[in-house]
Amino acid sequence: MKVFLALFFLFATIVLNAQETNKIKVVIDAGHGGSDPGNLNMTKGFKVEKDLNLLIANKLGNYITQYLGHKVEVIYTRTTDVFIELKDRVNIGNKANANYFISIHCNSAKNPLVFGTETHVHDINSKISRELGLEIEKQFKTRAGRNSRGLKLRPDRIRNLMVLKDSKMPAVLVETGFMTNKAEEAYLNSDRGQDLIASAVFRGFRDYLKKKHNIEMRKPGDKKPVKKVEGPVWKIQIMASTGPVSLDNPDFKKLNEPIEEAKITNSTSTFNYKYYVGAYEDKRDAKKALKEIKNTKFSDAYIVKFETIKK
Ligand SMILES: [Zn+2]
Repeated sequence: MKVFLALFFLFATIVLNAQETNKIKVVIDAGHGGSDPGNLNMTKGFKVEKDLNLLIANKLGNYITQYLGHKVEVIYTRTTDVFIELKDRVNIGNKANANYFISIHCNSAKNPLVFGTETHVHDINSKISRELGLEIEKQFKTRAGRNSRGLKLRPDRIRNLMVLKDSKMPAVLVETGFMTNKAEEAYLNSDRGQDLIASAVFRGFRDYLKKKHNIEMRKPGDKKPVKKVEGPVWKIQIMASTGPVSLDNPDFKKLNEPIEEAKITNSTSTFNYKYYVGAYEDKRDAKKALKEIKNTKFSDAYIVKFETIKK
C-alpha cells in the first residue's frame, strides 16, 4: 500500500509539473521596496520610486494575465511594500524556472532636463534579452509617444543590474522615466501615465512572444463562443399573410423585438408569409413571452416548435 501511494504521489507530481510547464512564465519585479525607497520624489506629494514601480508592475501583470493568461503565468517578486534582497528576486525567477524576467524601475539624473525611457539588459550579447528590450523600447517610442533612449548596458548601474546578471533567464530592466524631470515625474505619478507605461511594456512583451512562441492574444471584447443550439427551438408566430407585410408597420414596432419573416415556398397554404418573434431553447420561456404578446395586437399568436439540425 505504501509503495502504491508513493507511486501515486510521484505520478501526480509529474502530471502537475507537466501542466505547470505548459505556460510561459514571466517574473515581474517591482524594483526596491520596504526600507529601500529607490529614487526619492522631487515634488512634494509625489510618490517615491518603490511605490511607482509597484503600481506599474501590478498594471503590467494585470495586462499580461488579462490578455495572455491562457498562455503566460505571471510571478511577482513583490505585490506589497516589502524589502527583498536582489539575490532573492533572482532566486524567485530561477526557482520557478521562469522564462523571462522584467524588472520595473524609475530613473534619475543630475541634469533635470534628461527624460525618457531606457531598457537595460544584463548581457548585450544575449539575443533574447536584446530583442525583448528592443520591442519594449519600440512600443515606448511608437505607441506611448515617449522619448525612447534605447537599449543600455551601463556599468554605473551594476547594483540594480545585478538582478539581471545573476538570473538564468533572459532579463530586462525597464527604466520607465526620469523622476528628476518635472514633467516626467508628474507623468509617472499619474494613473494614465502608469497605464501607458504598463501597456507599452505589455505590448513589447506580447509582440516578442508572438514572434518567438507564435502566441495569439485574446481580443479585449472576445466572448466565449456561443453554444450552438441543438434540439428544438420555440418561436412565437404572430401572424401569417398572403403577401409580405412591411416590417416597419407600427404593430410590429410596438413589440420591441426583432421580427423574423419567413417566406413559405413549398406549401399549399394560402398564407405564404409567416412572422415570428423569439427563438427559445426552453419552451417555458416561449410561454412567458407569448403571454405578453397576446396582450398586444397579436392576441392570436401561438408557439411553433422548430427542430434544428444537429451537427
Ligand atoms: Zn530603481
